[in-house]
Amino acid sequence: MSDVNPYQSLRTQIDAAAQYLDISAGQLERLKTPERILETNLSVEMDDGSVEVFRAYRSQFNGDRGPYKGGIRYHPQVDRDEVKALSGWMVYKTATGDIPLGGGKGGIVIDPSSYSESELERVTRSFAKELTPLIGADRDVPAPDVNTGQREMNWIKDTYETLENTTEPGVITGKDLASGGSEGRVEATGRSTVVAAREAFEYLGKDIEGATVAVQGYGNAGWIAAKLLHEMGANVVAVSDSSGAIYSDESFDPVAVKDYKRETGSVVGYPDTAEELTNDELLTLDVDLLIPAALENAIHESLAHDIAADVISEAANGPITPAADDVLNDRETLVIPDILANAGGVIVSYFEWVQNRQRFYWSEERVNEELDSIIVEQFGNLVDAYEERNLPSLRTAAYVVALQRVMNAGEQRGTWP
Ligand code: NAD
Repeated sequence: MSDVNPYQSLRTQIDAAAQYLDISAGQLERLKTPERILETNLSVEMDDGSVEVFRAYRSQFNGDRGPYKGGIRYHPQVDRDEVKALSGWMVYKTATGDIPLGGGKGGIVIDPSSYSESELERVTRSFAKELTPLIGADRDVPAPDVNTGQREMNWIKDTYETLENTTEPGVITGKDLASGGSEGRVEATGRSTVVAAREAFEYLGKDIEGATVAVQGYGNAGWIAAKLLHEMGANVVAVSDSSGAIYSDESFDPVAVKDYKRETGSVVGYPDTAEELTNDELLTLDVDLLIPAALENAIHESLAHDIAADVISEAANGPITPAADDVLNDRETLVIPDILANAGGVIVSYFEWVQNRQRFYWSEERVNEELDSIIVEQFGNLVDAYEERNLPSLRTAAYVVALQRVMNAGEQRGTWP
């Protein structure tokens, strides 16, 4: 991983797109800057009676198109600029998907593997107490991100509802089905990554059946993408996690690899492996499709020169640095930007929020169909903008389309006071 500041990456990406729009310096600065950030220190009692303090953040970047929306990450490397960047990407992701939400993001500086479940529950409820005045179905709707899932979302919902003396499942998404979650939410991010890749292959006149695929990161987003691609007839030849990468001459069975990881903690050591690789070796494999699904900045400038994949569908947020992006554009690698490719998570979060507010729940089939049609329509919009305006990349096209949508909403609201 490189040490590029993700907030600077976000600002660079917005600047690159803004030159294609008629936009004033003041408007542009507003589109590049969070509206507000909560920074708080949570004092939490540990199982042995001692007290530990955890730094936590919530950034509300832009709410012109609807309530702030975005996940909560638990990771030792969470910091203020990372949370700011991730919240900004959410603004442009909800706008790229054209769903009526803004962008936010939160995180706690913690390595959750070092704490017991009851300690994590107290940490989460402590953060939820701090968040309660800021969040709500019409204000700010958090969701899971790295190292958080249904369990944490259920705790946050329960804390909020208890403190507010209400029932409001739409205060948070990514919940368990029994707590008001949506069918299809767990698979949504991997699914949109794959649907976007399918559209890109069709655009290039390539067949996804028989295509070779490498997936970096085998968590929620990565493993689901691998599973769906395998179901579509692609050959998943390499997968990885933070311990390393594995390669197969034919195709891994993604479900069997997932079972192995669940049992042993890693994909590394999986019995049907032809060769073990480093993560950088996986990223530079000569495959048809590469899916970075770990953390940001995985593909930096020097690595980009060695990327051999034809198509990259970004399951992770910000996995390619701006300098690496330039290299990939020159090499004519088709990169489907994160703000479309991994938008499935937030799009199905939006469906969950809609269902919570209607108190009327959809079938998994309906969720998947609605998600598919949004990705197909918006991929088409990006390709149209890319071709009609002669833009350098689909990423620039996504930012041009999304910036225009956010700017229109802001202009119509006006500036007050
Ligand atoms: P996760 O915690 O379930 O999985 C992350 C995976 O990445 C793990 O397998 C981990 O071992 C691996 N990893 C970590 N560091 C690595 C490294 N240096 N090299 C290779 N692998 C590494 O997280 P997730 O929910 O799958 O999220 C992954 C990415 O997708 C993040 O960037 C996240 O922001 C993004 N994303 C997730 C969702 C979602 O709904 N889960 C939605 C949108 C975007």
